[in-house]
Amino acid sequence: MGRIDDPVDSMDIDEQQQQKVEAPAAVPEGFNPDYLRVYYASIIAGKLFPYGDFFKWLCYGNDGKHPGCDQSYVGRREFSFTLENDIYLRFQSFNSASELESSIKEKCPFKIDIGPVYSVDPAKRHAYAQSGNNVFVPVERELIFDIDISDYDDVRYCCSGADVCLDCWPLMTIAIKILDTSLRGMMILVSITYCGYTVAVVVSIVGLSNEQRAAIADYFRVYKGGENALKKVSLAGPVLHPFLARSYMDVLKSFFEDNLLLRQQLFASQEKCQKILDLIPDENFASELQDKWQGNRRSSISKEDVNAARWEQLKMALQSGKQKGPGLRRCVEEIIFSYTYPRLDMEVSKHMNHLLKAPFCIHPKTGRVCVPIDPNNCDDFDPTTVPTLSQLLGELNAAGFQTDSENNWEKTALETSIRFFRTSFLQPLLKACKEELESAYNAKLQQSKNTLNW
Ligand SMILES: [Zn+2]
Repeated sequence: MGRIDDPVDSMDIDEQQQQKVEAPAAVPEGFNPDYLRVYYASIIAGKLFPYGDFFKWLCYGNDGKHPGCDQSYVGRREFSFTLENDIYLRFQSFNSASELESSIKEKCPFKIDIGPVYSVDPAKRHAYAQSGNNVFVPVERELIFDIDISDYDDVRYCCSGADVCLDCWPLMTIAIKILDTSLRGMMILVSITYCGYTVAVVVSIVGLSNEQRAAIADYFRVYKGGENALKKVSLAGPVLHPFLARSYMDVLKSFFEDNLLLRQQLFASQEKCQKILDLIPDENFASELQDKWQGNRRSSISKEDVNAARWEQLKMALQSGKQKGPGLRRCVEEIIFSYTYPRLDMEVSKHMNHLLKAPFCIHPKTGRVCVPIDPNNCDDFDPTTVPTLSQLLGELNAAGFQTDSENNWEKTALETSIRFFRTSFLQPLLKACKEELESAYNAKLQQSKNTLNW
C-alpha cells in the first residue's frame, strides 16, 4: 500500500488474532514506539533490520567499482518516512547504507516507504528547480502489484476488511501464484511481501514507462462492473487467451473446486447460491436451478457435501446439450474467474509515483514485520504467524543476545525471512544487474570504438 494519497493505512488491528500470538518471553503484545526504537536503533537488538541488504537491493549493482556503474543512481531514489502522529518526511535520499541506517535510527519511523528514482536527487529538488536547467521527474520505479484481501469481501464469508484467516488467505496465495508464474516468464525478479492485509508483488524491473506499466497491468485485467458488486468476469472471444487458459487449467479450476468451494461453503445458503446464479446470463436457467435447490434442500443430497453437489449440478446443467446458449458455455469458466482471479489495484501498477512499503518495516497498527513471501512455498505461508515486534524482542531476551553481534536476527523468527531475501531475491538480482551493466558498458565501448575508426 502506502500510496501518496493514502496517508493513513486503513488497516484495523485484529486484536483477537494478536492475542493468540504469545511472546516467548515477557514482552507484551501490540505496537509500541519503544519496541520500534529497540528494533531499529538499539545496540541490544544488533541490527534486526537488515540495513545492508535493503540498501544493496535498491542500488541495483550501481554501488560497485565497475566503470559502467551510475554512482548517482541510488542517491536519486526517494525514501519516505512516516513519524508518529502522521508526520510525513517525503523526498529523503541517501548515498550509502550507513547514511540510511543513521537516519532510520535517529528518526525511528513508524513507516518506511520507497519512492521512485528521480531525474535528480529528490532532497535537493528545490535547488535544482532554482537553477532552472533540471526537471524534477520520476524516471524509474519497480513495477508493483498491490493485492488487498479486503477486495475479496464479496467472495469470502469468514472475514471482512483487514481481517484474514486461513480460510480466506488462499485467495491471496492464488493471486501470488498467478502473478509469479506469469511475470517470471518475462525474466524479471519478483519479490513478494506481506504486511498487514496487503500483499505487494514487486517486480524489480526498471526503465518501464507509464504506458508500458499500464500495458502489463492491463494484461491482468479481465474484470468489468461495479466496485462493490461481485466483479463479473467477461472472457471475451470464443477462445481463452493462452495465459488465461493456462491459469485456469493449472491453478484456478482446482483451487476453486478443491479448496474455495468447501472452505467458503459457496452453496450453503440461498444468498450464497444467488450470488453465483447472478453470474449466469440466462435468467430462466438460473431460476430453474434455484427451484431445484430449494426443493431438495436436505433430502437427496444429504450425504454428499451440499456445495460440491450443487456445483456439479450447475456444471452439468450448463454443459448439457440443451443449454448451449452463446453465453452459457463459457459460464463455468467465468464463475471460477470471478471468484478466484487476482484482484489488483491497477492504479498502483500503472504509475510511478506510488510509494511501496519497505520490506522488514513494521506495520504501525499490528506490530507485524513486513516479511517477504517465497512464491515457491506460498502454500505454507501463514499470515497469522508473521512475527510481531514484541515476539522478536521476546525471542532475543530468551536467546541471550550479544550486544556486539551484527546478526542477532539469527536468534529470532526473522532469520528465515532475511535468509530468503538475501539468497533467493537479492543475490540473483545482483548477478543479473552485474551482467546487464557489463553488457551495456561493452556495447557503449564498442560503439565509441566504431566511431573512432571512422
Ligand atoms: Zn477469513
